[in-house]
Amino acid sequence: MNSQIQIAAHGKIDQSFEARIQTWASQVLAQVDPLRLPPGLCVNIWANIEDLAAFYQQEKEALGVVTGEETDFLATHEAWRGHPRIHICEERVRHVSLGVVQGALHHEIGHALHHGSPEFYTFRFSDTLQEVGGSCGLDLPLLQQCIYFLSIAIKDNDVVKWLAKTGFGFSQLALIKSLISDTEEEHQAWEVASNSPALRKITMAAFLKVLSPVETMIAVGVKDAPALKEQWKTAYQWLPEKECDELCQFAQRTFEHGNKGFQERLEKVALGLITLPNL
Ligand SMILES: [Zn+2]
Repeated sequence: MNSQIQIAAHGKIDQSFEARIQTWASQVLAQVDPLRLPPGLCVNIWANIEDLAAFYQQEKEALGVVTGEETDFLATHEAWRGHPRIHICEERVRHVSLGVVQGALHHEIGHALHHGSPEFYTFRFSDTLQEVGGSCGLDLPLLQQCIYFLSIAIKDNDVVKWLAKTGFGFSQLALIKSLISDTEEEHQAWEVASNSPALRKITMAAFLKVLSPVETMIAVGVKDAPALKEQWKTAYQWLPEKECDELCQFAQRTFEHGNKGFQERLEKVALGLITLPNL
């Protein structure tokens, strides 16, 4: 057990579930230089969804945070109190396979390690970005949505890449596979967006959250990642071939920007996506 993480149980948690969470968290943290672990890293295990939702509600009100619905996710990460906290709920994941839950926990630990500072949650909207966005109908509120999705894609790409290089590609593969098992919501979003240049960009930005980690795992050489890409294509077969090819190419070439800072990368990816004529 890694002494630098704290596990906090809320409610009556099955002991074997708690032990698994501890093991999975320690697996990843063991790969990190102890001196580089963020102080105060805490994994919260919740017995039921209601308590987790109440906790989030309370924290959001106390801190003035506005975000989406956290209980939709298998596990979450935030740093609202200045130190990384991960949340996982036993009731929420009860019917999810262990490999997928492990993937979700590994994933959130990756975010806690790499995205613990406010830099990753506040975005800059330069004049250039606003101007280019405006040219395809992305006014500021729409541009904000687009940037929000792209920021998630970049962070997920980085987390999956680090985990894959550290030997945890298998768990991210399981997680992503579960995310593409049903794309009905994405299909509907595409149907609504396909005739609007601005909404198309937002939809494509949202699709990159899953696609860019898939491409990254192929690039890093994760076994079975090419098969996952085929599954992605099947799951998104309603996306026309031209858009599908362009999006894959964009995901392959755009997420690598060497040592550039997060904001700089985000702007570069956003400008790239917005100016691509066919997406
Ligand atoms: Zn993520």
